[in-house]
Amino acid sequence: MTFHYQDSYLHAEQVSLQHIASAHGTPSFVYSRYLIEAAFDQLDRAFANRPHQICYAVKANSNLAILGILARCGAGFDIVSGGELARVVAAGCDPRRIIFSGVGKQVWEIDQALTAGIGCFNVESRSELDKLAERAAAHGTIAPVSIRVNPDVDPGTHPYISTGLKENKFGVNAVEALALYRLAADHPSLEVIGLDCHIGSQISDIQPFEDALLRLLPLVDQLTREHISLEHLDLGGGLGVTYQNEAALDPVAYAQMVDKHLGDRELTIMLEPGRSLVANAGILLTRVITIKENENRHFAVADAAMNDLIRPALYQSWQDVKPISEVATVKPQHFDIVGPICETGDFLAKSRELSLTEGDLIAIFSSGAYGFVMSSNYNSRPRAAEILVDGDQAVVIRERESLSDLWRGETTLPPEGD
Ligand SMILES: *Cc1c(COP(=O)(O)O)cnc(C)c1O
Repeated sequence: MTFHYQDSYLHAEQVSLQHIASAHGTPSFVYSRYLIEAAFDQLDRAFANRPHQICYAVKANSNLAILGILARCGAGFDIVSGGELARVVAAGCDPRRIIFSGVGKQVWEIDQALTAGIGCFNVESRSELDKLAERAAAHGTIAPVSIRVNPDVDPGTHPYISTGLKENKFGVNAVEALALYRLAADHPSLEVIGLDCHIGSQISDIQPFEDALLRLLPLVDQLTREHISLEHLDLGGGLGVTYQNEAALDPVAYAQMVDKHLGDRELTIMLEPGRSLVANAGILLTRVITIKENENRHFAVADAAMNDLIRPALYQSWQDVKPISEVATVKPQHFDIVGPICETGDFLAKSRELSLTEGDLIAIFSSGAYGFVMSSNYNSRPRAAEILVDGDQAVVIRERESLSDLWRGETTLPPEGD
């Protein structure tokens, strides 16, 4: 029930991507509900023998329909902004299942989260702890708190997506964390409920997760000795997926590793996966506008560009490209798939052997996470449509932006007077 060819055309579940392009145009992100649910279930089942809660990291793909699917699976939500909080609420999800991460929470966001009654604040600094205590007191409420510990481990991924090294801006070290826990435990407007970390993204190895856990457990035990008891231990997200030939992080091996080290500590395990729940559940559907050749390089200029999908340009990431029609009409060549934007960095894929002619449809795979959410209007390009496939149904879950959406909220100059 994955993306597969049927009658020579690539399908998402039972819907032909050719039909989606005719009905809804391109570029469009197309997601499979089945694949999102399958990814959630696989992780959920792996941790079944411990109390656990999967809190989907909203930033990976924050479409209301996607949030709704995951809420029905039983997910909570990891948010990093007031905008994400508003989205989760707009999607009809329970705010008590929200945890709020992020190194720069503003006062209005703290107030919004206190009013909504979220489940936990993942606090990243002394300054934030003081602000939270002050705001909770002003609201006459008690804020549930976890301290984000930076375990100083190297997840061995791209430097931009490593967050658990001591020189990063994220979290506090274990010594400072202990001091913050003592402060929080003594404060009448704060209630310590957890401890969290998040060491980075796209991690395929168990080892960095194990290193991080082993650095957190002594702190957990110290807190227990001081009668500061935790309800949960939040290991963050970062579970790696397969884009090309990397091994995806094995959820069963991960859960077994956690189980082994936790022993008889009675803690609910929290996880904050984003990418691993949605990346491979989505493709970017785009049409080739122009084929051209410069100095023996073949370019296929698509109607999708770096403003739609920035990962290849930003992280030099590799994503698979497949034609929508399996029937080759011309002989294959090595193509760079580029967009129409005025930047040399505007590419979606390089040197892919494909049989392409103008007007052909192609799919950029693994675009469900950090795809649409990182898109922009650069070059005044309306943002793409988002489409959800469920069995034999395809529904638009976000309309393609119109031209007038491009300047919504802007004003023209008043006419010049004499
Ligand atoms: C980005 C982020 C996540 C999700 O990371 P993935 O690699 O998408 O799983 C989880 N927790 C925090 C705090 C994050 O910033």
